[in-house]
Amino acid sequence: MTDNEFKQIKEFVLEELKKIYPAPSVRLWFEPMRVVALDGTSVTVSIPQNKKAFVEAQYYDILKLKFSEIIGINTELKLITDEEEAELKPEFTEEVDSAYKTRFNPEYTFENFVVGKSNQLAQSAALAVANHPAELNNPLFLYGPSGLGKTHLLFSIVNQIRKNHPEYNILYVTGEEFTNELIESLSLKKPMVFREKYRNVDVLLVDDIQFIAGKMSVQEEFFHTFDTLFKMNKQIILASDCAPKDINNLEDRLKSRFVMGLVADIQPPDLELRVAIFKRKSMDFGYDLDMEILYYLAKNITTNIRQIEGALKKLKAHTLITGEACDFNVAKEVLNDFFANAKSEESVIEKAFEFAEKRYGVTRDDMKRARRNAEIIAARHLAIYLIRKTTNLSQNSIAKLFNKKDHTTVINSIGFIERKMKNEPKFEREVQSFISDLRA
Ligand code: ADP
Ligand code: MG
Repeated sequence: MTDNEFKQIKEFVLEELKKIYPAPSVRLWFEPMRVVALDGTSVTVSIPQNKKAFVEAQYYDILKLKFSEIIGINTELKLITDEEEAELKPEFTEEVDSAYKTRFNPEYTFENFVVGKSNQLAQSAALAVANHPAELNNPLFLYGPSGLGKTHLLFSIVNQIRKNHPEYNILYVTGEEFTNELIESLSLKKPMVFREKYRNVDVLLVDDIQFIAGKMSVQEEFFHTFDTLFKMNKQIILASDCAPKDINNLEDRLKSRFVMGLVADIQPPDLELRVAIFKRKSMDFGYDLDMEILYYLAKNITTNIRQIEGALKKLKAHTLITGEACDFNVAKEVLNDFFANAKSEESVIEKAFEFAEKRYGVTRDDMKRARRNAEIIAARHLAIYLIRKTTNLSQNSIAKLFNKKDHTTVINSIGFIERKMKNEPKFEREVQSFISDLRA
């Protein structure tokens, strides 16, 4: 087994730990660890001298569990210090690092975007804009459900324009980043700096633009940014989870501007396209999976292409460790667990939303936007609380579900619901019985 493969396994474990612990703790305690040896029965992990005692005392069990889960068999865990490691293995190269990076951060390009019926329009529109910025379709507005390649296309445009026009000033932000930067600039009383930045670009891409809906001052500022750039004939590209007309609480003047150029949607891919995408993804992963396995994956992953990455990692970890060839039966066995987990998590989140929606008569879109109405706030607190109590999602991942930047939102919600339960026994019974039904 190579250093590279050891690093992959560690990376998988880190991802699991990030679901449980806050990012700073993971960075502090787990990121420095290195897998140095692994066989069918045990894994040896080195940790800096000054951290080992603490990690061993605090986290030994969870580490052992996570390594066992990733490796797929119950493994012994041996912790050693980095000094002990140095005696075992002196060599380690930079090269490994960069190869590793490219595998895990594959660049999003047109070249590795697989085209089919459901995304053809969006892809060709994106390509046209990339090759002729501000000539044909301005603005370009892409929309479709999560995990179907909008961000991939946006980055493809960035990469392509960079190649053709290295001199262009290209700015990519998410709706959330735009919002946060604006708020910060206003609070620092430096709106000019903000404007300078956003109004001096050749190409502006705003991903998940739906985030600005419902926020008056942000929409106002974006409107002027848009108009300024548009008048100077600069290219604007937007992506959203739904069509402009369906973005709730978005000002009409923005809606009408968003459809002035070209609007293209991405639909969920059919089976054939999923197989093709998964083939491409598995090749990028250094895997040539046979058709039977690809079809099996494509039958199980239907709504969100992003899930393929988790499935491939699971397979990779298994084959790395056991050295077993990845035939159909092996793949099926390894992936069954993965799909069962993914499904149950997804359905639990779905049910939590439904429960909060029904109880307060609001929609989940309302909850995800920054709304100040008491019902919406209460519903959001409840949904966050339920998701936290019934899934393994980290606080940060939950915050993201609600378009919030950090985990303090989640902590607030939990405090809010706990207090409410204390004061209202009936509410408490309702919540507890929902949770125990879910677990049943
Ligand atoms: P969105 O922004 O729509 O939520 P992303 O662009 O983040 O989705 O895509 C999710 C994942 O699926 C990414 O890893 C992306 O590369 C992959 N993906 C989606 N569609 C395709 C496609 N047609 N070809 C290759 N990869 C795709
Ligand atoms: Mg995206």
